[in-house]
Amino acid sequence: MGEDVAIRALTESGTVRALTCVTTQLVNELQERHQTWPVATAALGRTASIAAMMGLLLKGEERLTVQVKGDGPIGSIVVDADAVGHVRGYVDHPHIHLPSNALGKLDVGGAVGSGLLHVMRDLGMRDVYRGSSELQTGEIADDFTYYFAVSEQTPSAVGAGVLVGTDNRVIVSGGFIVQLLPGHTEEDVRMVEERVAAVPSVTDLLVNGVDAEGLLTCLLPDARVLGVQPLSFQCLCSRERLAAVIESLGPAEIEGLIAEQGGAEAVCHFCNERYNFDADELRAMLHRG
Ligand SMILES: [Zn+2]
Repeated sequence: MGEDVAIRALTESGTVRALTCVTTQLVNELQERHQTWPVATAALGRTASIAAMMGLLLKGEERLTVQVKGDGPIGSIVVDADAVGHVRGYVDHPHIHLPSNALGKLDVGGAVGSGLLHVMRDLGMRDVYRGSSELQTGEIADDFTYYFAVSEQTPSAVGAGVLVGTDNRVIVSGGFIVQLLPGHTEEDVRMVEERVAAVPSVTDLLVNGVDAEGLLTCLLPDARVLGVQPLSFQCLCSRERLAAVIESLGPAEIEGLIAEQGGAEAVCHFCNERYNFDADELRAMLHRG
């Protein structure tokens, strides 16, 4: 199996941009860490693929957070990505099972429901960009297509797919974003519409051995590759960060934890790592505070 990568490419004219990615191993790691069931794996995996590609448009230390806040049974999906291919994410309720939809596919739209898509870009120097749009179908790719159009004024075609096996593991995962940039022509619009319509589903392509570069060739055969970024799971949590969360509960709460549990356990939402603090460590926090 090839490694996970995201690719950024631009047409000669500079008016059409394409991003493609393969995220099979990344989404498998998310599945394993959160023990997601298939419909949650698909929803989280599609979101992670799109966030990973959007990360390629960031610079330096910039980060972005995507929140899909629907009213469906899986609750919210949250994914973080940076400019160098690090991605982490979770879904509120990973253990949800729904019957297949009318197409015989995982009912991601039903699992996500209706609500809002939020994108926050932390651009450093306390500069944060926030954009939001209403979820269209809850199928994720459609929701981002709408988001790019209304919130970023960038007409886009977005595709994302995750194929889950009967053992709950991810067989393939990946996606693409094609965007019309300022100065694009009617010819560009027609070309993109034709190419996107001609591309089979992302998972069909990936199952047949197509990689991120192959996806790009299908979408924009003449585009010039500007960057290839390996992708990997990475969390930012640490013992110190979770200790700070416990400290912020305040002395009364911490005394309670010592008396009732003789310690405390804190779990990172993003990676499901567990951090244990014994009574002595909690007492030390009280003295510091
Ligand atoms: Zn973590």
